[in-house]
Amino acid sequence: MTASAPVTQDVHTIPRKLPEGGKVNLVGLTRTAMRDALIEQGTAEKQAKMRANQIWQWIYQWGVRDFHEMTNLSKAYRAELDEAFTIEIPEVVSKQVSEDGTRKYLVRIAGGHEVEVVYIPEDGRGTLCVSSQVGCTLTCSFCHTGTQKLVRNLTAGEIIGQVMMARDDLDEWPERGTRTYEARLLSNIVLMGMGEPLYNFENVRDAMKIAMDPEGIQLSRRRITLSTSGVVPEMARTAEEIGCQLAISFHATTDEVRDVLVPINKRWNLETLLEALASYPKVSNSERITFEYVMLKGVNDSDEDAHRLVKLIKDHGIPAKINLIPFNEWPGSPYERSSNNRIRAFAEIVYQAGYSSPIRKPRGEDIMAACGQLKSATERARKSRKQIEAEAGLG
Ligand code: SAH
Ligand code: SF4
Repeated sequence: MTASAPVTQDVHTIPRKLPEGGKVNLVGLTRTAMRDALIEQGTAEKQAKMRANQIWQWIYQWGVRDFHEMTNLSKAYRAELDEAFTIEIPEVVSKQVSEDGTRKYLVRIAGGHEVEVVYIPEDGRGTLCVSSQVGCTLTCSFCHTGTQKLVRNLTAGEIIGQVMMARDDLDEWPERGTRTYEARLLSNIVLMGMGEPLYNFENVRDAMKIAMDPEGIQLSRRRITLSTSGVVPEMARTAEEIGCQLAISFHATTDEVRDVLVPINKRWNLETLLEALASYPKVSNSERITFEYVMLKGVNDSDEDAHRLVKLIKDHGIPAKINLIPFNEWPGSPYERSSNNRIRAFAEIVYQAGYSSPIRKPRGEDIMAACGQLKSATERARKSRKQIEAEAGLG
């Protein structure tokens, strides 16, 4: 199906039931859900799958937001669609560009809430760091987002909408009627923005399915990485239902330290986590799990930590690469970044033990866009210590 295909004739039925309380947003619906919505709107059942495919391609292949531009649908049908549906993505409130080219967007979602989205250009590729929640239920002590209460989960439409928004800003939709991306400015997605993606599993899954769909945004599952703080019961599902790459916010080599840094460790401790990682389906040497390890001065950055880290991974036989993240400070943050020499020494131990140990280059620090610095400007209220402690207990 291309844009230049002949206009197809639609056999219309009388709309059976129009959506109550306003139009339905098509963005974020799975293919099946879109088909069902069309039937509900009055599209003939035997045509609905084909119509959904056509509309899908307009929305996700060419970035079209106006039904009237869908030239392979009849004019009358386009008008009907326009009556019943919208194609809406989050609104960009502000955009900041760092001196290193990193772009940070503040986008507004329904209810007036705001989340941050970060685009990181690199040689020959570009990564979009996407948010999955407004705030976070977890309270990792080194993370800025963790000081913001969970406001709500993002819908699948709001998650994939961040990708569409960035593609608009980068002006990267393929020419209508063609399917190839010239530049691939946005070639990778990381679910490493605000929120814990595995506490919003279904919406994250549906959004990533859309990102991977070959008739649309077309990103391979190998170019999508989901980062979790360690929600063990949802990890196997991630492999089975999304199939993307997994990154784990590891950050410590003893339960004592991890309980403080990543309080979810009190519920699923290191041993439980490592066992789950060892049995993460489809793990092979070409598909390693990324261990994220934030370097905090005097807290988790000793030689002993490095040796313990590789021993834990080795003993559990996990194909892994270790991504060392220099700590990014934020207003009021209780930690300091390890020195460059310390980070390099740590990396060397990990590397000598046979694991790749890249040091993540902080990007967009001047605009507070680096890892762990995100927090929506409108939600600055800090949690009380009591609240944090209550939630850290995790029931
Ligand atoms: N909630 C998920 C994904 C978002 S956090 C998770 O915790 O994995 C993305 C990554 O940034 C995680 O590895 C997190 O531990 C790291 N991070 C958080 N705060 C940071 C900070 N201040 N400096 C550096 N990295 C940080
Ligand atoms: Fe939430 Fe991840 Fe930040 Fe922890 S590191 S508070 S899980 S966003």
